[in-house]
Amino acid sequence: MVTTRAPEDAYTAEPFVPEGPRDLTALRKAAADCHGCPLHRDATQTVFGAGSAHARVMLVGEQPGDQEDRQGKPFVGPAGKLLDRALEEAGLDPADAYITNAVKHFKFTRAEPRKRRIHKAPSLREMTACGPWLAAELALVEPELIVVLGATAGKALLGSSFRVTQVRGTVLEEEIHGRPERLVPTVHPSSVLRSDDREAAYQGLVSDLAVAARALS
Ligand code: SF4
Repeated sequence: MVTTRAPEDAYTAEPFVPEGPRDLTALRKAAADCHGCPLHRDATQTVFGAGSAHARVMLVGEQPGDQEDRQGKPFVGPAGKLLDRALEEAGLDPADAYITNAVKHFKFTRAEPRKRRIHKAPSLREMTACGPWLAAELALVEPELIVVLGATAGKALLGSSFRVTQVRGTVLEEEIHGRPERLVPTVHPSSVLRSDDREAAYQGLVSDLAVAARALS
């Protein structure tokens, strides 16, 4: 049998996103069956966003990690725990935030079969393919502010020229998926865990999140 593959340019979640009246539960249910790009093949499950539909702030990360892929929830691993602590220290209530990723399936490599899964950054095409889910989340939650966690989320939302080091800790005003949005970029919390000077990197994250907290007050 000959198997045909969609060209990479054809990757998109669009046909899987429900039309008409919808809520987060309906979106989450539909996203569980998304085959909009090849990342669903090796991952355990779709990891959709979590939090209140009335959240004032939406946090957008890169993609689920190993723990998130197994549990089906975003930011439940070590980076998520660090982020919760940083949010509280900055004056933002994690319970009043909606948290999601630019890409909803875990992308990874393995050096050898049955070895630990190693995170691999999603490509621009995979980020673009997954964009309709993020657009649908933004349209439903209508956050007052988006916190962009790291370079991949920034590229997914603001384009490939995004550089987190140039704009972190500032309030940006941009049109995202056809809607005017305010955004505060910062680093991804996993970069804090990898940093040689973890305390300085953590304080930098808290400082950026404090800008977001002030923008909301
Ligand atoms: S990564 Fe996004 S577009 Fe690709 S299969 Fe998963 S949910 Fe669909």
